[in-house]
Amino acid sequence: MDLIDLHSHSTASDGTDAPAGIVEKAAALGLRAVSVTDHDTVSGVEEALAAGERLGVEVIPGIEVSSDYRENNVHILGYFIDVRAEALRPVLDWVKTEREERNRKIVAMFAADGFDMSLEELQREYPDSVLGRPHMAEHLMRKGYTQSVKEGFDKYLGEGKPYYLPKRRISIAKAVEVILAAGGVPVLAHPMQYKYPRDEVTEMIEYTMSLGIRALECYYSEHSPEEQEWLLARAERYGLGVSGGSDYHGTRKTHIALGTGMGSLAVPYGVLENLKTRRGWPPPGLVFFIFALAPPWGKQKKHLPSGGRWRAKRDGRGNKETAFKGRFALFHCAARWEVRLLATRRPLPG
Ligand SMILES: [Zn+2]
Ligand SMILES: [Zn+2]
Repeated sequence: MDLIDLHSHSTASDGTDAPAGIVEKAAALGLRAVSVTDHDTVSGVEEALAAGERLGVEVIPGIEVSSDYRENNVHILGYFIDVRAEALRPVLDWVKTEREERNRKIVAMFAADGFDMSLEELQREYPDSVLGRPHMAEHLMRKGYTQSVKEGFDKYLGEGKPYYLPKRRISIAKAVEVILAAGGVPVLAHPMQYKYPRDEVTEMIEYTMSLGIRALECYYSEHSPEEQEWLLARAERYGLGVSGGSDYHGTRKTHIALGTGMGSLAVPYGVLENLKTRRGWPPPGLVFFIFALAPPWGKQKKHLPSGGRWRAKRDGRGNKETAFKGRFALFHCAARWEVRLLATRRPLPG
């Protein structure tokens, strides 16, 4: 069976392999397709695409956007995005400025307390990386302040610890909107990783669907087989697509391997084929065609067309009711469905 991995991080964010290195690894493993989905950046995508061309591995342009949902950091994956899309710029620039500002403040807090740490040194240590707390934790370990990266987080950098600063994030609505605007397919990443009870996961799925996500990441390294089954059933019930990947981070998450995750991950190529059908739909031409045949507007409360014309009748109380009759019923339903889908592309607040 042809296998794929649609979730990995390169040195462009917090992974340890270069984008091309991930594609090389995918080729060596015999994966048919791979996506480099760095956090809030697409700067590794072009290198990955070039490597894919060279090595005969299908590379899907991707991103993983951090967003705010009920004060939680919820991740939205975006596939097939146009990395040069104008719509991406302001959002990614904002995230970048926020991150730099936060790094600067955290490093200043460490320096003020006498730790041997500076932004210049971190930039020298990680020249091609988007700096963040993992790099600071590694730096603390190298300088002998801690024994492990985990200790760095537990003692200093983790949420609620003395050197933690809260992160401002874009809203989940904005994250979905920007991926759609860049021509991508938005996918709810690892839905079980937010530690919500099942009914709240369902709520989150329904809410993100209303924003325009088109698939759930059902196959994931840290999902149990039971969780995977549950999610696949949700996807089927809601007519959503399915996605899957390891969340490979190189040596920064040694327990996760590309392709196989924690050993049992296997994402079939069919997953990608299905995702492709969810790209950039609906085409505007089709919308026009359907509207021309069966306009979904009208004066009545229940405006249903009959053979392209409106047919009203009066009920006993004198209210206007429309009778639904005619061969364009199907077109009409399709048109209304498309309107709902198009509505998800409207700019959303936040
Ligand atoms: Zn994630
Ligand atoms: Zn990830």
